[in-house]
Amino acid sequence: MSDPKNILITGASRGIGQAIARQAAQQGWSIGLNYNQSQTEAMSLAEELRQMGAKVICLQADVSQQSHVKRMFSEFDEALGPLHALINNAGILASIMITDVDETNVHRLYSANVFSAYYCAREAVLRMSTAHGGSGGAIVNMSSVASRLGGLAGGSAYAGTKGALDSFNLALAKEVGTQGIRVNAIRPGLIATEIHNVHGGIDQMKILAKTAVPMGRSGTPEEVAKVAMWLAGPEASYVHGSIVDVAGGR
Ligand code: NDP
Repeated sequence: MSDPKNILITGASRGIGQAIARQAAQQGWSIGLNYNQSQTEAMSLAEELRQMGAKVICLQADVSQQSHVKRMFSEFDEALGPLHALINNAGILASIMITDVDETNVHRLYSANVFSAYYCAREAVLRMSTAHGGSGGAIVNMSSVASRLGGLAGGSAYAGTKGALDSFNLALAKEVGTQGIRVNAIRPGLIATEIHNVHGGIDQMKILAKTAVPMGRSGTPEEVAKVAMWLAGPEASYVHGSIVDVAGGR
């Protein structure tokens, strides 16, 4: 990449977000590394990326809360300057049978997985849009194959949040396409991260992947990260409003 570029990655302390941050550092981006609870992991990743020569700032924020998101973007502005890409990656998985749904558990899931994307995209568009004085940029939303497969039993709320993200992705692409901002989403399949601790952990997930995934294996966070950074970068200059499955054929 010729010019230095600045990217904000939500949920970058662990899993797929952590791999995206590593990929971004390798490509020469300056990074706003958001975390919520995993401060130790975030600090240690930031140190690793700085050793690689990247400029990195750690940004603690619960992105399901609007006030946190506004503060996070202000801190990003101050530390790194103009924003060029946002990866809406933060998310949680929960298994909630329909008879166990209540105001708290279903709101928590939608706040973390959907409302967070709206709050972060709003701040990003206000900074990147040519209609607001910005120089353009890219937004990548982390959906899931659950949006079209429905997930496992108990997955209706999680799958619903990812279906909402798919629609959000398409609609936002229409809204900001002429303002220099490309908007795309990724639907990962079974990827080996701690998110699967909700239902048996990575080992159980890998057993499921042998039969459920046409390629016969789960994916790695790095395999998702490469696609995310391709979508965020100039090589994907005419890719817009797309949803890319990274799911081993599932
Ligand atoms: P992990 O559980 O490994 O990591 C989740 C990350 O999201 C952590 O860094 C966590 O931060 C962060 N996070 C969660 N809630 C918030 C919040 N409210 N505010 C800020 N950060 C938050 O999950 P994955 O890496 O597997 O998942 C990343 C994304 O990919 C999610 O959106 C998930 O739905 C999606 N996905 C994952 C799949 C998989 O198989 N792994 C499949 C399909 C989609 P912290 O620990 O600091 O609190």
